[in-house]
Amino acid sequence: MRHPWIFSGAIGAVRGSPAGGEAVEIHSASGEWLARGFYSGESQIRVRVATWDSEQPLDTPWLRTAIERAVAGRAGLADGPDGACRMVFSEADGLPGLIVDRYGPYLSVQMLTQAMAVRADAVTVALAELFDPRGIYERSDADVREKEGLLSHEGLLWGEPPPERLELRPLSLLGAGTVPPPMLVDLQGGQKTGHYLDQAANRARVAAYCRGANVLDCFSYSGGFSLYAAQAGAASLTLIDTSASALALAQANLALGAPGVTAELVEGDVFRVLRQYRAEGRTFDVVVLDPPKFAHSQHQIERAARGYKDINLLAMQLLRPGGVLASFSCSGLVSPDLFQKIVFGAAVDAHRDVQIVERLGQGPDHPVLLTFPESEYLKGLLCRVW
Ligand code: SAH
Repeated sequence: MRHPWIFSGAIGAVRGSPAGGEAVEIHSASGEWLARGFYSGESQIRVRVATWDSEQPLDTPWLRTAIERAVAGRAGLADGPDGACRMVFSEADGLPGLIVDRYGPYLSVQMLTQAMAVRADAVTVALAELFDPRGIYERSDADVREKEGLLSHEGLLWGEPPPERLELRPLSLLGAGTVPPPMLVDLQGGQKTGHYLDQAANRARVAAYCRGANVLDCFSYSGGFSLYAAQAGAASLTLIDTSASALALAQANLALGAPGVTAELVEGDVFRVLRQYRAEGRTFDVVVLDPPKFAHSQHQIERAARGYKDINLLAMQLLRPGGVLASFSCSGLVSPDLFQKIVFGAAVDAHRDVQIVERLGQGPDHPVLLTFPESEYLKGLLCRVW
């Protein structure tokens, strides 16, 4: 009920020849009006529903009102001038294909569907009016755009280009009155929209286990987990990422937020480096696993599961008894249940007793729409490994 995706196989007939991104009416087989959505000629998801209200046209005022509602839903989250927060989260906010991240005075935007791509100008005007930002930058470089037959598109949409490094405080929910540490965000050259906002609150959760700990931060990107761990009093930090530019940003973040803390920055493949550490007999008190999305489509789930199991097994083998594993998966196609089974499999193979002490998910600026379970994609298990 009220799921926003209509797959090509579910469509009996298409009347006329709607253009990509055009608003279309959806009727049941018996001719009853059901909903209104956006057509996509290329994607298997042929229509994305945007309203179930027959009175509501999908025009420019609709777009603006929907963005306003998304913004109203984030009231109180990272409001300050250096706050960073996802303001629009695609289908979960009723705006299929539109992602808007606020990084202080700048907006970083992804338009991932034909519907949003053809409305880029209207989206830009609405955002400029509602946020009065210094600049709006587009980062529609995601591979999802390929499925829509769209090319990547990056560049300045409005105002001034963002500087190479912005000093911001991503929403962290450390508690009322607590100010999260500043982090450097690279809107133009960084990954995705510039930063992984979905992990902001989890960094603080994991840091609670890091006092005096030797911390291994796998898939560190710009060092978010390490920075919080350092501030919580970690004894040592080891960061692993394949991207040299990510590690450079991580180093700058640690210099800014945790000066004097020594960190080992390792440019390499986590699968390989963890095997090397195991061979060397290295151990850690806390291991964070925050890999990129392993499953991009149904037929990749099995391979993804093997990948998750491999790194979780290795991480458990590197943990001293009583150590903490913070293991994440951002593959929406891997359900929380399957993810837990994978970690279970790793624990059995590692011959370790593993307790789940906390379950983590995406931050409150990435809401889950009940009629769209796909919007729940990030899951984390905080485990004590004996
Ligand atoms: N933990 C980060 C986000 C991680 S995103 C944060 O809190 O912000 C995933 C990261 O994994 C990216 O930086 C990417 O460069 C890196 N990566 C992808 N494949 C990798 C691999 N096989 N080994 C090491 N790093 C990898």
